[in-house]
Amino acid sequence: MKSSITYCPVGSVEGIGASAHYLQFERWGVLLDAGLDPHHYSAREALPAYDLLNGRPVNALVMSHAHLDHIGSLPVALRNFPQARVYMTPATVALTDQLLYHYVQVQRKKEGKRFEPLYNEPYLESIRFIYQGFDYESPFPLHGQEASGLQFTFYDAGHILGSAGVLIEWRGSRVFYTGNTRKSAQFILKGARYPVERVDALITEATYGANSAAEHVRRSAEVKRFAKQIGERLKMGGIVLLPVFALGRTQEMIAMIHQLRVKNRIPVAPIYITGMGLKINKIYDRLLHKMYPDFKAGTLRAMTFDRWQQGRKLRGPAILLATSGMMLPGTASFEFAQALAANPRNAVYFVGYADPDTPGGLFRQQKHEELKTTFGLEEIACQVEIFQFSAHSHRRDLLAMIERLRPRKVIFTHGERAALEWMEENTRKILPKADTLIPRQGEWYPLFG
Ligand SMILES: [Zn+2]
Ligand SMILES: [Zn+2]
Repeated sequence: MKSSITYCPVGSVEGIGASAHYLQFERWGVLLDAGLDPHHYSAREALPAYDLLNGRPVNALVMSHAHLDHIGSLPVALRNFPQARVYMTPATVALTDQLLYHYVQVQRKKEGKRFEPLYNEPYLESIRFIYQGFDYESPFPLHGQEASGLQFTFYDAGHILGSAGVLIEWRGSRVFYTGNTRKSAQFILKGARYPVERVDALITEATYGANSAAEHVRRSAEVKRFAKQIGERLKMGGIVLLPVFALGRTQEMIAMIHQLRVKNRIPVAPIYITGMGLKINKIYDRLLHKMYPDFKAGTLRAMTFDRWQQGRKLRGPAILLATSGMMLPGTASFEFAQALAANPRNAVYFVGYADPDTPGGLFRQQKHEELKTTFGLEEIACQVEIFQFSAHSHRRDLLAMIERLRPRKVIFTHGERAALEWMEENTRKILPKADTLIPRQGEWYPLFG
C-alpha cells in the first residue's frame, strides 16, 4: 500500500494560462510552477487560485522554467507561502530575476496610473536571494524538512535555457512533471532528457496535441522552406515580421537566421530585435556554455542583428523579431502587424505557438474578418506562413515519452481542449491499463493510496 498523494491544478489546465500544480504528500506540500496567464497579465484574474491552498502545507515552490506562464506569480506565491523553499535550475534563477523585473516595468509603462502591481521592484529585491539553483540530474532534498523523505531531481527539458522537468520521489513513489518539453534539438538547445526508470504518475504538457502537421516535419526541410520564402520577400523589398517570445524563440531564431546569412542562403537585410531579447541573449551567452560545455556555435553577441529603435521608420527589406509571440494587443509584434499587414510585399511568419483566440492565433488560422476588426485594417494582404520550429515536442514525441515512462497515472495540461483530448485518447491506446486524466482547475484528485 503506497502512501497517499493528492493533486490539484491551482492554475489553468486548458490553453497557455497560469501554470501551477499542487501536490500534497501527507503533511508536506509542493507547488510546481507559479505562473501568470498571458491573456491578462496585468489583472488579478491572471493569477492561479492560491486560495485553494488555504490551510494546506506548501513547503516548496519548484519552478520548471522562466516563461511568465510558469513563474510570473512566483512573488505572489511567496507572499502567500513565506515558509516555502524555492527551487529551480541556476539558469532559471538568472532568467527569473530578469523576467520578473521586466514584467513589472512593462506593465507600469503600459498602464501608467491605473497600474496596481501584483508586486514591485523592492519586493522582488527582497525575495531574489531565496531562489535556490540546482543542476540537472543532481537530486536534492526538501531542505529543513528532510524527515519528509521528499527528493527532487531536475531533468533538462530542452525547451529554453534552464528549462527542467521535475522528478519527485517520495516513499517509493515517483511523480514526474514535464514542465514544457521538447524531445528533439533546436538550433541552440539540445533535446530533452527524461528519467531512465519508469514513473508512477506523470503530469505532462500537451501544447501540440492538436497539431498533426508538426510531427511530419523535418527541420532541415523547414529551414530550407524558410530561407526560400524569406529570400523572396526580402528581394521584393518587403518587411518580414516574426512574432516571438523574448525568451527562447528570439535566441533560437537569431541563431538560425545568422547561420543562413553566413552561408549566403538569404539576402543581406537589416535584422531588428525589440524588447528585452538582448538582455536575455547575455544570459544565454553567460550560462549556455556551463550547460553544454561542447557548444560550438559561438555566442549570440557575435551574431548579426540590431536593436530596434523606437520611432524608426519601418522600411523594407528588413527582418523584425518582435515580442510577444502570440501578438497580444499592446505589444510590439501587434503594432508592427498593424503597420505592415495591409501591404502584400510584407509577411508575418509564425515560428512558435499561439493560442487560437489570440491575434497571433487568428493570423495562423487566416481568420481575415476577425483580424480586420482586431487590427482596424481594411484588408489583410501580407503573406502569412507557419513554420514548425517549436520549442515543444510534437505529439508523437510526447506519446513516445509517455510510453517509455510507463506511468500508472497520466495527467494532461498546458494545451487547448482538442490537444488534451487527443493526447488522452492516444495514451489509452498505448497504455490501456493507465489511468488518464484531464483535470479541472480547483478539483482534488488522489494520485494513489
Ligand atoms: Zn515555456
Ligand atoms: Zn508554458
